Amino acid sequence: MKYKRILLKLSGEALMGDRQYGIDPKRLAEYASEIKQIHEKGVEIAIVIGGGNIFRGVSGASNGMDRVQGDYMGMLATVINGMALQGALEDAGMQTRLQTALKIEAIAEPYIKRRAVRHLEKGRIVIFGAGTGNPYFTTDTAAVLRGVEVHADVILKGTRVDGIYTADPEKDASATKYDTLTFEDVLKKGLNVMDTTAFTLSQENELPIIVFDMNKEGNLVKVCEGELVGTTVSV
Ligand code: UDP
Repeated sequence: MKYKRILLKLSGEALMGDRQYGIDPKRLAEYASEIKQIHEKGVEIAIVIGGGNIFRGVSGASNGMDRVQGDYMGMLATVINGMALQGALEDAGMQTRLQTALKIEAIAEPYIKRRAVRHLEKGRIVIFGAGTGNPYFTTDTAAVLRGVEVHADVILKGTRVDGIYTADPEKDASATKYDTLTFEDVLKKGLNVMDTTAFTLSQENELPIIVFDMNKEGNLVKVCEGELVGTTVSV
């Protein structure tokens, strides 16, 4: 395995499957099975999950809600997704811990870096919920932050597109995919990989990002084996 410790970022929207809202149990089970394959190969796995399938602070604000209030609701949405994923991983036979940036001690451990690392060393999958615990941030930023903190080798951004394209492939049929990019390339070309805060944090800490299609069976294993799947952004 090329990567010993990974930080997997899954978007909340990915959990919807074919639905318009919420969580698709079939999609959860598929993700659990993909994650199990790399777990069995000894990869240490930390996961940050988004909340966009349930609530986004920005959308709340655009409907007149206080942004900070909306962002806390979004953070709680990531905890709901984290609990759902935790259940699916445990059903598939893996040991897990959910740690949250906001304390909700009846259902999750509070985030403690040293404890998280110890869980990873013991082969437990650690899911980080509630983002960074602060409004005005995203779960992409939480993913990079936690990735840097636990010394992950790479951020794996599992999406429904298979990498970074010259233009949005869902809108422009002539768009072509990049296999590798440097952080500088991404900035120069104005490509959209993650929000600026997340991207800068990754660049400053020289933590590579791989954007790949999480919905294609076997892709996660391939990525961890070092196969050129998706697009890699590094120094
Ligand atoms: N959020 C936040 N601080 C964080 C992470 C998330 O306030 O550190 C809120 C924010 O409102 C965001 C929502 O949680 O819109 C859901 O996260 P995100 O949009 O990143 O989820 P994804 O797009 O990955 O599903």
